Amino acid sequence: MTSNLNRALEWTSPQTQPLLLGALCLLALTLFSMAIWPKLKLLRGARSAERCDRVLERIALTLKVALGQSKLMQEKGAGWMHALIFWGFLILLFRAAEFFLIGFFPETDFSFPASNAVFVVYAWIKDTAVLLVGLAVFFALYRRLILKPQRLTLSTEGLLILLLILAIMVSDVLFDSAFLALHPEGHSGPIGMVLAPAFEALGKNILGNLHSLAYWLHTSSILFFLILLPRSKHFHILTSIPNVFFSSLSNNLSRIDFEEEESFGLVKMEDFSWKQMLDLHTCTQCGRCDRACPAWATDKPLSPQQLTVDLRDHLNGPPSSDIVLPGGIIDDEVLWSCTTCGACEAACPVMIEYVDKIIGLRQGLVLTEDRYPKEFKSAFQSLETQSNPWGFPKSSRSDWAKELGIPIWDKTKPTEYLYFVGCNGSFDARGKKITESVVQTLRDAGVEFSILGNDEGCTGDPARRSGNEYLFDMLASANAETFKEQGVRKVVTHCPHCLNSLKNDYPEFGATLEVIHHSELLQKLIKEGKISPQQKTEENVVFHDSCYLGRHNEIYEAPREVLNASTSSIKEVEHSRETGTCCGAGGARFLLEENTGTRMSHHRLDELMVTKPDTIAVSCPFCVLMLEDAVKAKNLNVKVKDIGEMLINKT
Ligand code: SF4
Ligand code: SF4
Repeated sequence: MTSNLNRALEWTSPQTQPLLLGALCLLALTLFSMAIWPKLKLLRGARSAERCDRVLERIALTLKVALGQSKLMQEKGAGWMHALIFWGFLILLFRAAEFFLIGFFPETDFSFPASNAVFVVYAWIKDTAVLLVGLAVFFALYRRLILKPQRLTLSTEGLLILLLILAIMVSDVLFDSAFLALHPEGHSGPIGMVLAPAFEALGKNILGNLHSLAYWLHTSSILFFLILLPRSKHFHILTSIPNVFFSSLSNNLSRIDFEEEESFGLVKMEDFSWKQMLDLHTCTQCGRCDRACPAWATDKPLSPQQLTVDLRDHLNGPPSSDIVLPGGIIDDEVLWSCTTCGACEAACPVMIEYVDKIIGLRQGLVLTEDRYPKEFKSAFQSLETQSNPWGFPKSSRSDWAKELGIPIWDKTKPTEYLYFVGCNGSFDARGKKITESVVQTLRDAGVEFSILGNDEGCTGDPARRSGNEYLFDMLASANAETFKEQGVRKVVTHCPHCLNSLKNDYPEFGATLEVIHHSELLQKLIKEGKISPQQKTEENVVFHDSCYLGRHNEIYEAPREVLNASTSSIKEVEHSRETGTCCGAGGARFLLEENTGTRMSHHRLDELMVTKPDTIAVSCPFCVLMLEDAVKAKNLNVKVKDIGEMLINKT
């Protein structure tokens, strides 16, 4: 057994070593605090956000996403590389503590006997971590310098951090190997034991210098890393775990108190909540959000990553009370390009939220700056006066139902379900066909349902997602009042945008409904044998996920199971389920012209056409419209159908 005595004391005496290390630590901690203090001050002064509920769920999420690195693994190579560095660093925190203990207490013996099982296990785990982190850093350097993937930007800062990590790993190995070569009676981990015999030839003088060099390189690299953290994008090393823990577990849009607030939406940095600011500090600039974004893929000016970087730079810059964010820091067109599809959020490994910020910035444009695309002017007017975005008379909302004899909701004789039809299903010619198919399947299965008739109004989804929260508040309040008056409890709808709004936005308006999508009801009816399709189609069918059904409400299986009842085999494209690509309709974009870049619907159609389908099956009436228009524009021979329509053809 040997002691730690004299470890790394070749350059210093036992008296000067703690003083020198203490001075370096003090300098590093001072510089670290100077950089982190302004950020903490901003967070402390920011608006509140309720993110301390459902603690167990939050812990489970943090274990899975932050510690388990689950989202990073969506990309195997880069995912494993990052995970190895992260897990390795967690293990090496103990090693760092060992180095500082040796430095501060040079005459204390911290060593274990070589036979101690704890030491042996620790030494093996530590050396494995050093090896794997080292290999991961080499792979990262290879990716950055040789492979150069498009989403990564080669930055000096990124390279410096990788070299620092490498210096920490190399100095760890040198420290152990030189020590063991100097003291062959000592012990270390397996790497030191393998390398020490080769080091012996260097002679005691060089080995002594090497040993001390390794010590000071290791400790000063760690301290330099600490100084660099809050000054670089690697600040995420400190903020990622809390950012995941405090991420949104449900709808994170909230009602504006129009009586109390003076300005509406995100206009200045002071309007951001602490969680929105934490998001900005957490971006690693990995570019995954850009790669998932349909707007970015179709050459719109929106890059979610850049949006975060621009806001973060502004946040960290000199205080300026006269700069307005929407239009000043972020161009209007950037904001109007977003479909609120949530693909960026699903892709982000540190769970940065975008939709709330983009809608907040849109609110700033619409409500405070009074500036928005011209197409919204008539849509807002129509929503306000006729409760639909196209200006059809309110009194004609239920005309489609007259010939079908659909009962109107009667609170004295309520049916099991209220069928909420939505604006598209009530007024659009193609949408009405989908509505009729829903009616037929529900009737065939003997489901009791009725509609609100002309008392139904737009949920307000396009108003809220376009930033007109005032209009949304008006529409949602009216519908919520109707639900309350009429005693409505269970709602079925075939529109995922209505579903999302009624289910996630309406509780704040006092409407706590059980809202299900028609795919979920059809799935249940099929299971119960109340719908039994005759013969499955042999056609080539590909399924397209709706963002508001899938990503926003995590309903992926129900439409597939319904489709399974009518189709022999369903093709899946590369981008499906959580990574499905938006059709371009969401976020009220179905109301806007799309003049910049390629059309998002064309882009999605190209992805779907890879499977050479006869039919594209969809579970959202807006996706049907967008994809059918794209099919016509491209003059292709492929049908676009709702999953309910697919079922009807086969029952
Ligand atoms: S929500 Fe969709 S469109 Fe908007 S930034 Fe994210 S990925 Fe892009
Ligand atoms: S927002 Fe998330 S996905 Fe996008 S660059 Fe930053 S860390 Fe990566």
